[in-house]
Amino acid sequence: MTPGLAAARAQVAECGRRMTADGLVLGTAGNVSVRAGDLVAVSPSGMAYDRIGPEDVCVVDLAGNRVDGPHAPSTETPLHLDVYATTDAGAVVHHHGLHSAAVSTVLDELPPLHYYTMQLGGPVRVARYATYGTPELARSVHAALVDRTAALMANHGAVAYGQTLDSAYDRARLLEWLCALHVTASGLGSPRVLSAAELDDVVRRGSGSGTGRAGGPT
Ligand SMILES: [Zn+2]
Repeated sequence: MTPGLAAARAQVAECGRRMTADGLVLGTAGNVSVRAGDLVAVSPSGMAYDRIGPEDVCVVDLAGNRVDGPHAPSTETPLHLDVYATTDAGAVVHHHGLHSAAVSTVLDELPPLHYYTMQLGGPVRVARYATYGTPELARSVHAALVDRTAALMANHGAVAYGQTLDSAYDRARLLEWLCALHVTASGLGSPRVLSAAELDDVVRRGSGSGTGRAGGPT
């Protein structure tokens, strides 16, 4: 069931505090949105997360027009709206977690070191770099999200979506953990990467995750 608009705004405000407490954001970095019917509650631009209340959360329509809220919406709103337009997402989380950001500067795809990778739909891609807040970045993330529920963003951070904010947030945290695993294991030596057959077995055991994407990249 999709939340009402007031509940969506409260969820966005609460999630911002959670991201700060979990160390996924620094200051005003990162953003969160929750869909409520034809509207989207999205974090305001340039406000520290520990100071955002539900009344500060911006409301836009699916075309990005501001409908309510005293502040401008997050500069990454085009990226959020693209995910809503092309998947069954009910919520989107974007963060600058240290390990996700670190991996995004080095790799084009996160090697599957752990079977949890399949909870994100498969090995996580790194979206090609584009300036923050631009339609180019939204397009680049769109391509990286095909058949996945999360992606890294080159030299920037991570994005994940889910039908609820809890599932989007869990995926965003899982991706940060997988990146931390990669960084840690790579410091010990050359990590063993799971094969496609081993990953297929994980899906057969029911540990994979459908992405709910409505269509391919446009
Ligand atoms: Zn960002």
